[in-house]
Amino acid sequence: MTPLEARTLERLQTRRAHLAGLAKARGDHRWVDLMRKVDAAIGAIEVGTWGHCAVCHDLISEGRLAEDPLLTVCLSCLSEADRRALERDLQSAGKVQRTLLPPAHLARDGWEVAHLWEPRGPVSGDHVDLIPPYAPGAPAHLLLGDVSGKGVAASLLQAHLHALFRALVPGGQTLPELLQRANELFAEATSSVSYATLAALRLGCDGRFSLANAGHPRPFLADGRGVRPIEGGGLPLGLFCDSAYTERELRLQPGQTLLLYTDGWTESAKGDMEFGIGRAAAALRRARDLPLPELLASCRAELEAFLGGSPRGDDLTLVAVRRAA
Ligand SMILES: [Zn+2]
Repeated sequence: MTPLEARTLERLQTRRAHLAGLAKARGDHRWVDLMRKVDAAIGAIEVGTWGHCAVCHDLISEGRLAEDPLLTVCLSCLSEADRRALERDLQSAGKVQRTLLPPAHLARDGWEVAHLWEPRGPVSGDHVDLIPPYAPGAPAHLLLGDVSGKGVAASLLQAHLHALFRALVPGGQTLPELLQRANELFAEATSSVSYATLAALRLGCDGRFSLANAGHPRPFLADGRGVRPIEGGGLPLGLFCDSAYTERELRLQPGQTLLLYTDGWTESAKGDMEFGIGRAAAALRRARDLPLPELLASCRAELEAFLGGSPRGDDLTLVAVRRAA
């Protein structure tokens, strides 16, 4: 039995017990129907046919099964009506995800922050949030993360990260403490099957900020002298319950730009050639004096030009930070 099958079997057995109680108490046929489906899935896991499409017998994707263990048909064998319903579902999930995003461009508390968030499909596993000061004089927090995996499963964990940090930040811990706690909770929630890389910034006064990095690509610092990555980092969130993190105190000078990105920018490839850190840094060097929204658009455009029309393989998010003029 695979780990997914073992986990699913446990979930289904709990669900079955719950449904049996409901069916008995309410005498409602809907519960009985659902219970039959749960029984069928439990039976299929036990005989080893679970996860295979009832029409073409191909494997149904693990991501979809993890979401709905009662699936019996693969995507290509769905009826036209089912396919349209699924597309509508995905589109509305994408809309919900967009409502969780911070404004695309804003200036406040001495900072200017802009982001560009582009899922590869209807939903994204990239997490970007700008959490405003939770009390007068408290710092704002800027987060950029990337959940392992793709599609709906990754987007569910993105929403989980969003809620996690929104709940934790007002506790007022240091950045390393914040990441440590988020890591514990994320590891518990995902049983270490999934993980997320994340860069967290705490924005202070006069350009001062602290940065803690949980396995995320190193942010770039750009100014008249060039473009360089900011070193430092710990393990991604969710891998081990006891990961520890450190922070770096830095100061952004007027005229400097900080660029955070997910690996959809640097690791997108044409054939087997990646866009790569070098091209990314050069793109930023050329765009560094543009207003932030144009700077982001230009960094994205250089990737698009490199890909020459072939589709990007991953979600893409870019976040740029400056001191407000
Ligand atoms: Zn099929």
